[in-house]
Amino acid sequence: MSQISGVKKLTHSPCLAPSRIPRFGVNTEHESLLAKEIEDINRWGLDIFKIAEHSGNRPLTVIMYTIFQERDLLKSFKIPADTFITFMMTLEGHYHTDVAYHNNIHAADVVQSTHVLLSSPALEDVFTDLEIMAALFASAIHDVDHPGVSNQFLINTNSELALMYNDASVLENHHLAVGFKLLQEENCDIFQNLSKKQRQSLRTMVIDMVLATDMSKHMNVLADLKTMVETKKVTSLGVLLLDNYSDRIQVLQNMVHCADLSNPTKPLEIYRQWTDRIMVEYFTQGDRERDKGMEISPMCDKHTASVEKSQVGFIDYIVHPLWETWADLVHPDAQDILDTLEDNREWYQSMIRHSPSPPPEEQDSHGAIGASTSEKFQFELTLEEEGESDSENPQEAEHAEPESTTTRCRRTLSPDTTDKEVVRE
Ligand code: AMP
Ligand code: MG
Ligand code: ZN
Repeated sequence: MSQISGVKKLTHSPCLAPSRIPRFGVNTEHESLLAKEIEDINRWGLDIFKIAEHSGNRPLTVIMYTIFQERDLLKSFKIPADTFITFMMTLEGHYHTDVAYHNNIHAADVVQSTHVLLSSPALEDVFTDLEIMAALFASAIHDVDHPGVSNQFLINTNSELALMYNDASVLENHHLAVGFKLLQEENCDIFQNLSKKQRQSLRTMVIDMVLATDMSKHMNVLADLKTMVETKKVTSLGVLLLDNYSDRIQVLQNMVHCADLSNPTKPLEIYRQWTDRIMVEYFTQGDRERDKGMEISPMCDKHTASVEKSQVGFIDYIVHPLWETWADLVHPDAQDILDTLEDNREWYQSMIRHSPSPPPEEQDSHGAIGASTSEKFQFELTLEEEGESDSENPQEAEHAEPESTTTRCRRTLSPDTTDKEVVRE
């Protein structure tokens, strides 16, 4: 318990002479191919898989280096380029290459998506460079050392991590601890020239953003965003007016959360690759659950899951409500993103109709298969108890409900009804 698990010495020692830094931060034989793909750095349709391929699987380092240069953040915060590259290579090396979805490519994707969202005209000149750097750094570290299994799996298997974090946002706390710990490795402190106050402020914001990526917070995060949209204020310049920390961090938390849940909003050929990857990861977890005699988590049973239905349900209950609200906040900036999401949803829906009849296990309680089951969808979301407070304000936190909040709920959502059946486990 005296150490943060997962922090390892990497075999390659990224020793860089400041004068010898390659154009994109990494050595690659395909620099011109990489340059071509990087031209899309400011676009929603950037092909992160090609960037991974042409960079020798260093997309996170390449994307962060490119964006920090583009935004002039290395100069603004006096970050030595060799320190930046050393830290990024070290961070990237702490993502697991054998995990299909939650790896360095996903982290790079979230960073680049956050970068595009930060450039939304509705947010022009709204955030300071420190806030922008915090959002990009949070995106970069937000899943580091992810083992490819969910919080619930870690809790149910009495893992060391669940023990360490008392079952609360286990993975997210770990990603933060590893991300910040790596700054202490040799020549890795990219924040060395920030003032103490800047460092503290950045740390607070990064913690707030990464903790908000825990899906058990999703419903609360979204409810607060809806309230913000209803009471939205704009300046005379037509940009959002965010005049206190709570509002500013709330937008940043939602931005990173949207970026984290953005794969269904990407061009279909890219989205489909993400779906393949998440299913591989879910099925691997499902196999482990089956082997251990545990109940198999939703979407994780390779014998019964319908990939297409899972995607339609994921979009209908999680991704679309979130993006629709974000699109309202920055209206009309995210309209194209929302349109692509809706087209992609229709594509997966049409694939349900075209896909072969489901196996007998998929019969519903009425024994019907096909059409009626295709309407049904289950998504397990570990929700916070009502009344749980996330407040950064210690006074508010003091008055919050006592922490009997580890009780978990399973919410079964069916598009057939608007009812939400909540079954306490
Ligand atoms: P994170 O673990 O930080 O990436 O949080 C995002 C959550 O959304 C995780 O629970 C992912 O497994 C889930 N997720 C992301 N994309 C998909 C997808 N296309 N289908 C189903 N679940 C997804
Ligand atoms: Mg995560
Ligand atoms: Zn993620």
